[in-house]
Amino acid sequence: MRLKKLNSEELIELLEIFFAEYDLIAPFKVEQGRLNRVLFRKIRQNNEIPSIYLKEMPETTPKNFILPRDERLDFERFNSEREENENSLARAKTRLFFGVRSCDLAAIELFDDVFLDEDYLDPFYESRREKNIFIGYSNQILPPNNFQKELEIGYFDHQLAPAFIYEDLEARGREHYWLKIKAGYQFSKDVEAHLDNLETGEIGNLEKLLNDWEDKFTGETDFEIKNKLPFPEKEVFNQVDWQEPTASCLGCGVCTYYCPTCFCFDFFWDGSTKNRAWDSCMFSLFTEHASGHNPREEQHQRWRQRLLHKFSYHPQNYNDKPGCVGCGRCIYKCPVNLDIRNVINAVDKTLVKGGQASEER
Ligand code: SF4
Ligand code: SF4
Repeated sequence: MRLKKLNSEELIELLEIFFAEYDLIAPFKVEQGRLNRVLFRKIRQNNEIPSIYLKEMPETTPKNFILPRDERLDFERFNSEREENENSLARAKTRLFFGVRSCDLAAIELFDDVFLDEDYLDPFYESRREKNIFIGYSNQILPPNNFQKELEIGYFDHQLAPAFIYEDLEARGREHYWLKIKAGYQFSKDVEAHLDNLETGEIGNLEKLLNDWEDKFTGETDFEIKNKLPFPEKEVFNQVDWQEPTASCLGCGVCTYYCPTCFCFDFFWDGSTKNRAWDSCMFSLFTEHASGHNPREEQHQRWRQRLLHKFSYHPQNYNDKPGCVGCGRCIYKCPVNLDIRNVINAVDKTLVKGGQASEER
């Protein structure tokens, strides 16, 4: 493992080299009317680099690049271009996603489980995952409503990221950023030459810093999932009062569109080409059959599906891993402040009453 210390100017220089070598995608502050939004964006020009904004949790994630909101599924063209190794992604530079939170890295890993499953391999997804590097990010501010720790996702590392950057918002100079690069990992030649010129950090000092941050985060989160995952499907489906905790839901779908782990999509035809676009289980028409029958007519039934998908069906299919990474976006983006943690609490309460609570969590 290598550890480098950087000040703000050195970070900008490093990002400029990344920009020259890779397609650089990073959180960027965008003014939209009265709103200041932080969104993952492809950096188009060198002079945009100082506007990369890391301090706050971005609203969007690399999901928008790996599983785009809508895309053409032109298999014929895709296969012939692939044979010739000519498609635009094969020709493109490697994409470097800079400043990705550990929960969002866990979300990409979840997508990989689903879309790179050898029995149901998605070639469009696979092609987008071929040339990516992720650099993780953390600072000492716990993102709002975040509960990733309860889902056993660490804050400061992830196996998908060969490097992680830590920003100590209280420090100045070379103590401000710490860049950790995993043992054996090499960036391009020019990046490595730049890294050689940076001051080396003491791992003990970084560990102390991260332990302090972790203690602070632990003091700030009090959410607990009492039952082991997967939640037992039948009991949860039938016994939980779904109406009470979800009554205020408007069915707008905002939670699912911002969620880094929601991946449901719809197909539609544009002339002779098949397309897909994100869909939402929160929409009333999501499950409407051609006959007009809708097995989920009420909003609480749609919420039941959303929660069971993430905490029962997904863990059943993928080695007990939940279909949620606890990022908290669905909570702070919801227009009526509906909090998924309250819905999980309702499930927990019902299972505890029914004698299902597990000692294991
Ligand atoms: S964002 Fe809130 S109101 Fe909209 S569908 Fe999700 S839970 Fe319901
Ligand atoms: S369900 Fe909510 S907390 Fe979980 S990953 Fe999706 S947006 Fe984040």
